[in-house]
Amino acid sequence: MTARVIDGKAVAADVRAKVAAGVAKLKRETGILPGLAVVLVGEDPASQVYVRNKGEQTKAAGMRSIEHKLPATVSELHLLELIGDLNRDDGVHGILVQLPLPKHIDSGKVIEAIDPAKDVDGFHPVNVGRLASGQHALVPCTPTGSLILAKSVKSDLKGLDAVVIGRSNIVGKPMAQLLLREDCTVTIAHSRTRDLPAVVRRADLVIAAVGRPEFVRGDWIKPGAIVIDVGINRVPADGGKTKLVGDVAYAEAAAVAGAITPVPGGVGPMTIACLLANTLEAACVHAGLEAGAVGVV
Ligand code: NAD
Repeated sequence: MTARVIDGKAVAADVRAKVAAGVAKLKRETGILPGLAVVLVGEDPASQVYVRNKGEQTKAAGMRSIEHKLPATVSELHLLELIGDLNRDDGVHGILVQLPLPKHIDSGKVIEAIDPAKDVDGFHPVNVGRLASGQHALVPCTPTGSLILAKSVKSDLKGLDAVVIGRSNIVGKPMAQLLLREDCTVTIAHSRTRDLPAVVRRADLVIAAVGRPEFVRGDWIKPGAIVIDVGINRVPADGGKTKLVGDVAYAEAAAVAGAITPVPGGVGPMTIACLLANTLEAACVHAGLEAGAVGVV
């Protein structure tokens, strides 16, 4: 079998188009222009590129983009004061603090300082709890994007055996919650899981979020399974260059799977698209519209 390649770029473009239409409708009907504030601390080059892309795509969707760039030496107190200002600003509907933060700043404290209604990353304990208890929540963007990609292959995931490899707060745990909400039978595998290949071989749906290049091998994949590769790893390539690879050995897995996401061009583009969707969602709720009215997932 040769797997169908899931085109994350195309699906992300579709999500962004839906968001742009939703933004235009919200503006027309309520006069509200959704605003996303991104806070970047320090000069990490990867974070700078990511923040620039977020800003460009926010504007392209017709929303207001606000950027706050702070030096790596900024105090925790100053950052918390800025978040307080953004919480009170009626023109800001989404707040995202780019992680990781410098070591002298407690990221847990920073995440908890964000108004849960503006927490478009979905990392605040209130949103984590709401997701876990089946209430409406702002949900982390990468797992939401991964779910949309899985559903682009099979719209009804009910009853599938899903294995999520990785248990981080950013990807693995919210991913498992989302799949549970879709009525999958969910296994969360992690660094202490025994006989991981055997666990993965049972899966109709595999979500790999490990952070290890080409870790999941082709012979772990059940024939016909859907494979969503969240990993983004930079590895040496020919000619002294580098390239990006996922957490799945792509060529091997693609020979067995039913559908698979490539890296790059799979889950990556979905993250910002879902961030824009969350910002629109937060603005709609702020406008008194029904939660979930955006309907991107
Ligand atoms: P993390 O380091 O926080 O978590 C990795 C998880 O993998 C841990 O829960 C750990 O238990 C598990 N793990 C580690 N070694 C393992 C092993 N040998 N066997 C089984 N499980 C093992 O990473 P993260 O933040 O969840 O990110 C995971 C990957 O996804 C990374 O490559 C990251 O770059 C990528 N990522 C991509 C996006 C995107 O936009 N596409 C967003 C976030 C993260």
